[in-house]
Amino acid sequence: MTLGEEPRFCPACGRPVKPRTLEDDHRPRLVCPEGHVTWRNPRVVVGAVPVAGGRLYLARRAIEPAIGRWTYPGGFLEVGESAQEGARRETEEETELRVEIGRLIGVYSRPHVGIVTIVFEASVVGGRPEAAAETSEVRAFSPDEIPWDELAFSTVESALRDWVASLPGRGPRFEPDMYVVDTEEEAPG
Ligand SMILES: [Zn+2]
Repeated sequence: MTLGEEPRFCPACGRPVKPRTLEDDHRPRLVCPEGHVTWRNPRVVVGAVPVAGGRLYLARRAIEPAIGRWTYPGGFLEVGESAQEGARRETEEETELRVEIGRLIGVYSRPHVGIVTIVFEASVVGGRPEAAAETSEVRAFSPDEIPWDELAFSTVESALRDWVASLPGRGPRFEPDMYVVDTEEEAPG
């Protein structure tokens, strides 16, 4: 469960926390005997779809979850970086491609796992596609070659569907309902 373990102790004072609904609040919070509240919020995943010459690069995952399946490069946003900086960093770490982050493809919320994913299109400006951190293979696909049945996560499928639909002349002919989305997954992406 990527929502994370329920914290059992207060990060401020180390005493046990318990769910409690505070005055004028609308849901239970984790509160310690000192009254410190442990706020919990969704985590942000950033991704980039690297594009060169009309083709996009995908990476095959070398780690669980979804080992052996395809995704655009992405990962958790770090404190201190913008969403675009995070997407560029993840792309360089996972594919060895240098990219310029471009337009927003979409924002994808998965409330049941507490993750919000922001996906950008990116232009390849250098580097060479190579398997790197957490990936076993990197290759380019034309929009017609996207391996829809071998994608790692439902968010990857959604973002690539939106990317393809945004291509000139592609939107009206595209039928996203033909692809099965696994909504039970618990992994980031
Ligand atoms: Zn406390």
